[in-house]
Amino acid sequence: MNMTPTSARDALADAVLSFQLSGDAIQQRVRQIHHTVLTHSRYIRAANYTVIHPEDLEMLFAAYDEGFFAGLCRRALDGRKLRFRLSPRMTKAGGATARFVTAAGETFYEITVASSMLFEGFGTMDRRITVCGLECENRLEALQRIFEHEMVHFVEQLCWQSSNCAAPRFQDIARRHFLHRAPTHKLITRCERAAESGIRVGSRVTFLFEGRQFTGRVNRLTKRATVLVEDPEGERFSDGHRYRKYYVPIVHLQPAVVA
Ligand SMILES: [Zn+2]
Repeated sequence: MNMTPTSARDALADAVLSFQLSGDAIQQRVRQIHHTVLTHSRYIRAANYTVIHPEDLEMLFAAYDEGFFAGLCRRALDGRKLRFRLSPRMTKAGGATARFVTAAGETFYEITVASSMLFEGFGTMDRRITVCGLECENRLEALQRIFEHEMVHFVEQLCWQSSNCAAPRFQDIARRHFLHRAPTHKLITRCERAAESGIRVGSRVTFLFEGRQFTGRVNRLTKRATVLVEDPEGERFSDGHRYRKYYVPIVHLQPAVVA
């Protein structure tokens, strides 16, 4: 089939807006993709994988494009680049899809998946995890839900140059293609993991810095905690006291024993 870039994009938009498939058939295609990844990935060896590579996202893209979009995503890209990235630093969103224009006027797309958040979940003692409103049994299922969500962002950007997962069009596409019920996830975030260890915003903690032990209060939690330690030389805060800020990896913090 010969298609100009514009006709491929129009064909994709038409296909996406008219897509109808039964819930059973959708689940079967999604399971087939799960199986394909487990069989063909050079990195993912188990549903609760311990290694993943951007190549796996490329494999997912090809499988979803064929399985749900008749290969029209690749055609509508028309030679523009699509890059895949794993981010260990994203601590809230499960993924992101972005469109870039270079100084030379070249457009490319990038799909990012928050890899570390997937690694934080699915321990034997962990609570249930839902992504896009669907319960996930294992890491690969959660990865698929995140990837499906990003696929919808990508398709919307290709067809309509903008995408918003809080808007009705996005949610309708996500529901008809992938049975998604919500544009959000309940993965275990670093904040929750830290809270589990007893450390949360406001906790008194101790840590070692250049061989000295400090005690302070957690002010912010991301990949690292921001700990405020009282210090006459420090910055004045709204409570009238002076504090110096330390950025400490959460694993290096100990809850302080209240005297
Ligand atoms: Zn989104």
